[in-house]
Amino acid sequence: MSTSPASQVFHRDLLHPAPAVDRASGVHVWDVDGNRYLDASSGGNIVISIGYGVQDVLDAMAEQAAKVSFCGQFTSEPQEQLARELADFAPEGMDYVRFTSGGSEANETAIKLARHYFVESGKPSKHKIVGRWRSYHGNTLGALSATGHVMRRVSYAPMLLPFAHAAPPYRYRCTLCAQSDACTLSCADDVERVILNEGPEHVAAFIAEPVVGAAAMGMVPPEGYFERVREICDEYDVLLIVDEVLSGMGRTGRNFAIEHFGVVPDLITCGKGISSGYSPLGAVIARNEIYDAVAAGSGMFEHGFTYGGNPLSCAVGLAVLRHIEKHDLVARAGDVGGYLIDEIRAAIGDHPLIGEVSGLGMLAGIEVVSDRTTKEPFPYELGVSKRIARKCQERGVLINPSFSGNADGYRGDRFGVCPPYIFERADVDHTVAVLAEAVADVAAELA
Ligand code: PMP
Repeated sequence: MSTSPASQVFHRDLLHPAPAVDRASGVHVWDVDGNRYLDASSGGNIVISIGYGVQDVLDAMAEQAAKVSFCGQFTSEPQEQLARELADFAPEGMDYVRFTSGGSEANETAIKLARHYFVESGKPSKHKIVGRWRSYHGNTLGALSATGHVMRRVSYAPMLLPFAHAAPPYRYRCTLCAQSDACTLSCADDVERVILNEGPEHVAAFIAEPVVGAAAMGMVPPEGYFERVREICDEYDVLLIVDEVLSGMGRTGRNFAIEHFGVVPDLITCGKGISSGYSPLGAVIARNEIYDAVAAGSGMFEHGFTYGGNPLSCAVGLAVLRHIEKHDLVARAGDVGGYLIDEIRAAIGDHPLIGEVSGLGMLAGIEVVSDRTTKEPFPYELGVSKRIARKCQERGVLINPSFSGNADGYRGDRFGVCPPYIFERADVDHTVAVLAEAVADVAAELA
């Protein structure tokens, strides 16, 4: 893919400017030189859920833009209707929605709402948030304080808020109970340890991604993990916030990934797939008790962002959600996604470079290691997953290179293959064939 010429954009990676995209349609992206790519990365950031250029969404955008695209402190029919339909899409008893412009804002909102709930409930000392290592909740400094990803935090220390972090449910590199044959859910117990350490009377919420994204792609917790976490949260009167910015809106084959684990959280944060990238949109979905406490208290949640809930983005969100439901795309993400993970495992699962293949639905994660027996990671500087992604790109397939740092949050590589839900099995076959060639190429280079 060609790169932007003489860019004056302050890109993330100044040495490797971003590829220059010209247009996209369905599951394909074209660069400015006319080269076509199969997009198994959902827009690179795991955002595109329903594919590019869906006419229903384009029509809804045009119609809403012509009516009204912004209405500030007023509400609008698209906002109200999207809230109603999202509440139906969410677990029972979660009927209230606050809109934002993206995932970081959604997590900032959830953190503030958790604190506000305890103020309204007469427990103002409960203000701390507990996160986990190997997590990502956003790049704004509040969400980054909850984030447990060394690479993203390292240049910006100290964090705005000194949030504590529990162990991740990282079975492949478990430091707690992996030495024994059976998982004893020590990672869930670690949440209790951290809450007790912080003082339960000070802890407002625990935040976690049900299936981890950017900080440890495709990390799925062991069976029973979230049930135990829910019990711990209930015992200490701590809210459970699940960050479904990446895993939600159907990507894992359930409406929200937490539904795989039979637990109802207190707050769900959304982004990415909620608008499938057609317009910036995020949301926090709250359990009714939280709304009721605020309504019975001050009646105010003094918080908001100018563009949160704007009618144009909400009309997009509504069209995307209806498209997902009309075409049964959640079931399809589960079905074709399951096939994707099986095929990746079959093709490269035994390769000497591959430590683990994991994930759920259209959220597949692959960890590369320099030694399968010792699980020794590659040094960060080698950028092995980026090299694999570049080889795929040269062959016309886009995947999700990691932002690095898994073995210890700095070294190691875990990358993703996270296509839009409309991928066909033939698209999976092509992606996996190209991936296998790319892995073989990089292994040969490293040898
Ligand atoms: N949470 C998770 C789990 C994410 O994957 C991301 C984005 N990668 C965010 C939060 C932040 O969302 P945004 O970039 O829209 O602010």
